Amino acid sequence: MVCMATELVLLGTAGAPLPVPGRAGISSALVVDGRVFVIDCGRGTPSGFADARLDFARLDGVFLSHLHADHTGDLAGLLLYPWGVRVRPDGPVPPVRVYGPGRPAQVPAGDADFRRQTTIHPELPAPGTTDLVGHILAGYAYHLNVMPLDAAMPDPGRLVRATDIAVPAGTPGQPQVPTVVLDDRGVQVRAVAVTHGHAVPALAYRFDTADGSVVFSGDTTVNDDLIALARGADILVHHVADLGYLQRHGWAGAALDRMAGLHTDVTEVGEVAERAGVGELILSHYLPAEPGAVSEQDWVKRAGLGFSGRTTAGRDGLRRTLPGAEER
Ligand SMILES: [Zn+2]
Repeated sequence: MVCMATELVLLGTAGAPLPVPGRAGISSALVVDGRVFVIDCGRGTPSGFADARLDFARLDGVFLSHLHADHTGDLAGLLLYPWGVRVRPDGPVPPVRVYGPGRPAQVPAGDADFRRQTTIHPELPAPGTTDLVGHILAGYAYHLNVMPLDAAMPDPGRLVRATDIAVPAGTPGQPQVPTVVLDDRGVQVRAVAVTHGHAVPALAYRFDTADGSVVFSGDTTVNDDLIALARGADILVHHVADLGYLQRHGWAGAALDRMAGLHTDVTEVGEVAERAGVGELILSHYLPAEPGAVSEQDWVKRAGLGFSGRTTAGRDGLRRTLPGAEER
């Protein structure tokens, strides 16, 4: 039986690339009428997907907020591991659609504190989402071309379709008009560019369904366009950093300033949720990522300051049925 409710599942809630015990890398899933959409593909996404008992044959779309490895590192596995089950008796299921930022207009330059020593792959030093998917297929061509000779596999040419999201360059001081990424069978997805250091473009996504709406912040500093995008949403899944914790654990000077220029601090996120007027704030993409570093109670207590809605500490495997679905 296919569950027709709209349900949010957190697959992983850790921030930053370094693996930590007890928490998987950032990834969330939204299940709409049985179709599964995955937002970010951090470490352990395919395992989190299986643990959540989601159906790989119904993986419909993947949305990358930005192209740092902690958000994209397990995209290859999410595409390649379940390849064999993406088929029905009448033929292959439609390709997984992967959406994310395109190539930046230019490769960001460094400064006195942070700069590149070596430029990797100088002929294309800042590939976009379509490039990334193309390179995954090229890098795993052996698997894709040879495995069908020993096991019945669907046509690898139908495995995936990638799309670069063209977010118009905004006018400073002017609100962004969200870009419609997908509008298909009762699911509308819109994106705005957010502010995450040199990770340009970095995106936040809003999903609107018949049962309600969920917004995923991606990684960003406090951002008016994200707040406008999230206005009135049922759930805001927002990343959170504890810059004070980092400071107490040796971060200082330019390195700490740079972290503050990349992230929303735990003391700021409640006001973000309040200004947006969302129903529930769910914390994710924790920095520090170790589950024991800061208790869930402490995250919630500080994040919820100034927010009149419900604040929840996200954890791997947390599920939320959207309000509209509960009422049916
Ligand atoms: Zn991140």
